[in-house]
Amino acid sequence: MKTLNLTEIRDILQTPKKIAISTHVNPDGDAIGSSLAMYNYLIKKGHTVSIIVPNNFPDFLSWLPDSEGIFVIKDQYDKCNDLIKDADIIFSIDYNSPERVKEIKNSIINSNAIKILIDHHPDPDVKQFNFVYSSVLTSSASELVYDLICKLGDKNLIDLKIAECIYTGIVTDTGSFSYLCNNEKTYNTVGDLIKLGVDGENIHRLIYDTFSEDRIRLLGYCLSEKLRIIDKYATAYIYLSAADLKKFNYKIGDTENVVNYPLSMKGIVMSALFIERKDVIRISLRSKGDFRVNEIAEKYFEGGGHKNASGGDSYLSLEDTIIKFEKLLPKYKSELLR
Ligand code: 5GP
Ligand code: MN
Repeated sequence: MKTLNLTEIRDILQTPKKIAISTHVNPDGDAIGSSLAMYNYLIKKGHTVSIIVPNNFPDFLSWLPDSEGIFVIKDQYDKCNDLIKDADIIFSIDYNSPERVKEIKNSIINSNAIKILIDHHPDPDVKQFNFVYSSVLTSSASELVYDLICKLGDKNLIDLKIAECIYTGIVTDTGSFSYLCNNEKTYNTVGDLIKLGVDGENIHRLIYDTFSEDRIRLLGYCLSEKLRIIDKYATAYIYLSAADLKKFNYKIGDTENVVNYPLSMKGIVMSALFIERKDVIRISLRSKGDFRVNEIAEKYFEGGGHKNASGGDSYLSLEDTIIKFEKLLPKYKSELLR
């Protein structure tokens, strides 16, 4: 695939184009924030732009400006496919391989559009893209969108709306500035965003202080009834059956962050969350420090992600998935107890 440089991208964006922005399945605050930031920037540049996501995003992101216009592949497959097919340019944001956009993966791979990757996951599938803007050391794809707009010479186009989207991505992907952000640059970027008028305290409330009663009771149930701690491997996990979800009227986003709670225990290095979905057990993994959960996600659960935050799938039963996971722990004992 032909490689383009930044100057060529800048030139291509000088005249109106049809642009599709795509992001990963189970879109989170960074996926939606980075996509909407890029969307608003490209609209300002005079392009025709759409955002396409594999499945819906949690309600606590629906306050983001223009989020109501996002196309969901699960609901509008043909429309999403057409948008990808018609695009002159496809942006792939916050994911490292077309696998992560599920049903429209092949439309993206087969498209003749110019393909631009903006991402912060390890090992990007670079051969799929004409331009790769990727760094694993950056807090979020949203921060990379900010950097790229600046590098394209358009910092002056970053307005409050774009700034709010970028801020949301940084806050959510760093767990409110608690990981992936130990660098001056992220805070300088955040400083710029606050200068543009972002109300960080209000955004925090909009994202984190909007639980339903069901959601907070589900969290309590996870911690009191469904948490197992395996001290000798510095590991803890939470498991939820389909019946558990039903009992608490589960909605998308209700289990967001649940996996992080076990890590607040002293001495716990790895945390896992197993959720029984329709045809799959969805797994979230988190860790503290140097322990690489993405290796476990990739090797054993057909997934991947970041060193300290990754996910995967299992096609065994919930019980057998947990047995498989527990059997892996002795292999990692020395790294877990380091
Ligand atoms: P979560 O546990 O929130 O679903 O996912 C955490 C992070 O792991 C995501 O932001 C994403 O980077 C990564 N991730 C989750 N699931 C998968 C997967 O199935 N494949 C890959 N490659 N990455 C995943
Ligand atoms: Mn991200």
